[in-house]
Amino acid sequence: VQTRQQETAIQHYHPALSKEIQDKHAQVQALQDAIGRSAVEIIYQPKVCLQSRRIVGFEALSRLQGVDKTLQSPVVFIPLAEETGLIKPLGYLVLLKAIKQLAQWRDKGQLELSMAINLSPLQLDDEKLPYYIKQLCQRYGIPPQRVELELTESNFVQGQHPTLNRLREFGFKLSVDDFGVGYSNLGYMVSLQPQQIKIDRSFVCNLEEDVNKQAVVNALTTLAAGMDIQLVAEGIESETQLELLRRMGIHVGQGYLFSRPVASREAELLMQPAIAEAG
Ligand code: C2E
Ligand code: MG
Ligand code: MG
Ligand code: MG
Repeated sequence: VQTRQQETAIQHYHPALSKEIQDKHAQVQALQDAIGRSAVEIIYQPKVCLQSRRIVGFEALSRLQGVDKTLQSPVVFIPLAEETGLIKPLGYLVLLKAIKQLAQWRDKGQLELSMAINLSPLQLDDEKLPYYIKQLCQRYGIPPQRVELELTESNFVQGQHPTLNRLREFGFKLSVDDFGVGYSNLGYMVSLQPQQIKIDRSFVCNLEEDVNKQAVVNALTTLAAGMDIQLVAEGIESETQLELLRRMGIHVGQGYLFSRPVASREAELLMQPAIAEAG
């Protein structure tokens, strides 16, 4: 046990470092607390058929409530959760909430919807994960094909991974997120056998002005068709981008043009065809 005198001495010696450590400690505490209270909010961004603009599914995106502003974004709290091991309980909570939501929408007549859930590569270290998701699906009566698991390309993740193999075997859809900016290589794609690839937003941004980006997207469509992989375009913000992607043969997309991620009640409004078409 430290004496008060020693504490003072340490703080005096490394004031800046100490402040940083204290702030971080407080953030970890807040994160842990939020997970404990189930105060992780999920918002939903539509995945849209580019031809009809109808919603085919949603991506679940996490937000932290009741914490300071900087910690509310997943860009901040996901890395922190990964660093501290909290990604495991956090990941379980997100899976539970998102699958439960999908079942609620199914009960309201949305029978064909899919739900996409982001997985951290660290969650794959947990061999129980596939059984947990399977059990959730059974409890809520959700066919595993309706659940898309989005994995970012990373050097942690190898195509031949026991947890990935199990998830595939159980019938979940594997989706490669942010494709094109990570450690992507074609060998990885072949061994992972994903059902879906999400073209990173950076390729869609300025697509209309950049012939090189257009060439990459065109090559990807050929590759994906040959491997029976569905392509999804991320970050569609303009009609021009939509039109171009549609002409290139991409069928599904997401982006602010259609909708930002929204709370579940707002998502329900988006699914009402009369309202969607009038708006
Ligand atoms: P992501 O999975 O690639 O999700 C897409 C991100 O782009 C989301 O940011 C979304 O709000 C944003 N976005 C969507 N459409 C557009 C657009 O048209 N323009 C622009 N500029 N942005 C768009 P968000 O919600 O801040 O999430 C950031 C990242 O955090 C996600 O990237 C994902 O990697 C991670 N993340 C979020 N929730 C979870 C989670 O529950 N678990 C894990 N492991 N990661 C999560
Ligand atoms: Mg994603
Ligand atoms: Mg993405
Ligand atoms: Mg991205």
